[in-house]
Amino acid sequence: MCRHLAFLGPPTPLAELLLAPEHGLLTQSWAPRHQRNGLMNADGFGAGWYAPGDPVPARYRRAVPMWADSSFADVARVTSSTAVLAAVRSATPGTTPDEAAAAPYTDGPWLFSHNGRVDGWPRSVEALAAALPPARLLGLEARVDSALLWAMVQERLAAGAAAPDALAAVVADVSARTTGRFNLLLTDGATIAATAAGDTLCWRRDGAGTVVASEPSDDGPGWQQVPDGSVLTATREHVDVRPLVPAQTGAAPSQGSAAASRSSSSSVL
Ligand code: GLN
Repeated sequence: MCRHLAFLGPPTPLAELLLAPEHGLLTQSWAPRHQRNGLMNADGFGAGWYAPGDPVPARYRRAVPMWADSSFADVARVTSSTAVLAAVRSATPGTTPDEAAAAPYTDGPWLFSHNGRVDGWPRSVEALAAALPPARLLGLEARVDSALLWAMVQERLAAGAAAPDALAAVVADVSARTTGRFNLLLTDGATIAATAAGDTLCWRRDGAGTVVASEPSDDGPGWQQVPDGSVLTATREHVDVRPLVPAQTGAAPSQGSAAASRSSSSSVL
């Protein structure tokens, strides 16, 4: 499904990160190389970035393919940032088609994206939706599985969870109830958290900065694949990858219930 990318590093023009690389997000919108589901990502795109001295990111989203928006190319050419999160979208059938459903989703300092789908949505995750405070549900920006996942992540963050723990807990909660692909990506401009849960994910850290992406932007050296079933944490100095469910023994139902009850209790805090 979609492809997404997050960056931390020295001030870098958005065009250099997203548009210029031979196999960057722009190319991935019509010719992704490693996408496991879907042929292209032409149902919209979005980019969020941080300006100096302002913790709340700017966001630019459109419902058109990235290649069809020459205004973005112009803005991206002259806009530099030290932290960026961007995505190109292949909409899951039955979801909101307009820009309200295009990542990144925002809340305060956060930028969030979901690459994947929740199978059986919305019925399969009714109980998870019901566990959210009504205001959180009413505040969903669009009718799409990704918006529900973002609301669940927001609840975890609001309850004090660290970003990678919030993502891992939401993947556990949803996986306990249905199948799907749950590659989540989250940044506050200082740290990137990401899950590899059903689709591809890789990272690279060099003098140009740290990139975490669905797939490599070029054929250069240094790209590391993230094993499926992992949660990644990246800062400017360090990248850490660990298993999503460290103690997984194959006893999915009982572990799932344990994860689910943890989720419900922290959701109501
Ligand atoms: N399910 C999400 C949507 O419809 C993400 C889709 C994707 O990863 N292609 O936007």
